[in-house]
Amino acid sequence: MSESTWRVSNLVARADAVHAWLWQASRLDTSAVERQTTLDRSSERAAADVAIVKDIARERAVEVAHLPEPSRQAFGWLAWLARSADHPRRHVETLAGFRRAAERQGGSLCWAAIKPMKSLLRGKGRPPHFELLAHIVFVGAGDEVLSAVYERGRGQARPREVDLIDAYAGSPEALAVYGAVVDGLQPEPHVKARGRHQDLVAVFTRVNQTFFAGRLAQPSLNWSAEVSRRKLGHYRPMTDELQLSLALDRPDVPAEVLDFVMYHELLHKAIGVDTKDGRRRAHTAMFRLAEARYPHRDRVERWLRRHLG
Ligand SMILES: [Zn+2]
Repeated sequence: MSESTWRVSNLVARADAVHAWLWQASRLDTSAVERQTTLDRSSERAAADVAIVKDIARERAVEVAHLPEPSRQAFGWLAWLARSADHPRRHVETLAGFRRAAERQGGSLCWAAIKPMKSLLRGKGRPPHFELLAHIVFVGAGDEVLSAVYERGRGQARPREVDLIDAYAGSPEALAVYGAVVDGLQPEPHVKARGRHQDLVAVFTRVNQTFFAGRLAQPSLNWSAEVSRRKLGHYRPMTDELQLSLALDRPDVPAEVLDFVMYHELLHKAIGVDTKDGRRRAHTAMFRLAEARYPHRDRVERWLRRHLG
């Protein structure tokens, strides 16, 4: 597999064309039919572009993850957009939220786009030619957050609004959206997820539905011999890899035990790591609270002690 970067000409421009359609579709006076037509067109175009890039990558035996940065982000976004009809819809709804914020605050917004980028947001120009770029994590945010983003883009946010934006950007909802975009850049998932007796994809899907409303992006899932009996799972945020110990790949493990270990590791993905006084803390109070939501925890612990202790 080649590590060198490669190019796809016009990929950023092609993504920008779709951004322009979605911005049009977000106009507050657009009819539902008109909006739906644009959404369908955007999904189709995104899917076609993704297929073209994947074909080129296969031909040249390269990975989309090795595209140069702007193309890589454009591809990740297009892949996310194409993956579910819900994504363009939520994207446009968020853009409409920015338009409403501008209207409420007596300003105007001549262009807004939401994409994966380095900073959380960027404002350019001033009304009536004000333009707003917002990070993809804001897709699906409520009006209060979107208003704060609009104000911050104009350099007029109050401290409370700045705090609101920062808190939202680190929330599980926001990270799930970002995780899904980053996922589009990963190589096809490995089949290592299927063990001799248990399938990690099935466990992930179950836990994601039950505890995360199906909104977490699937990490790369592996059974691992390295993870010990004491430590039954591990999550690596840098590579979005989740491992479960092979000690759990046996036919008699109850689903609630597998689900609990998976839930614990997925909380690491959803919540992230807190840094305090220069020390990284993974099991924060917030983490423990979320973990305590798991039902029949005592029964799970008992099974683990009896069979693996
Ligand atoms: Zn942990």
